Amino acid sequence: MAGGTMIGVTIPEIDESKCTACGDCVELCPASAVDLVNGKAAIVRPEDCDYCTDCEVFCSAGAISCPFDIILVKDRPAEQR
Ligand code: SF4
Ligand code: SF4
Repeated sequence: MAGGTMIGVTIPEIDESKCTACGDCVELCPASAVDLVNGKAAIVRPEDCDYCTDCEVFCSAGAISCPFDIILVKDRPAEQR
């Protein structure tokens, strides 16, 4: 498994066991943050990733996931609901 949260930067998670090295994510990443390393996709420039989630959508092998944290806000004033 590669990816996750680095210092102050959230990046996609890549399941190397599912990656077929097709290179689609490398070509499609608008930030050029992904590259193939030893035959597997890796986020090589995490500081450039803007977490657009395009790579998750275009990976036909389902090797990339871009989870989001869901924050539940309790006791919000009624006027903000
Ligand atoms: S698109 Fe998916 S299968 Fe293809 S290189 Fe990227 S992570 Fe691997
Ligand atoms: S989330 Fe967007 S910017 Fe980040 S690696 Fe995937 S395609 Fe590139």
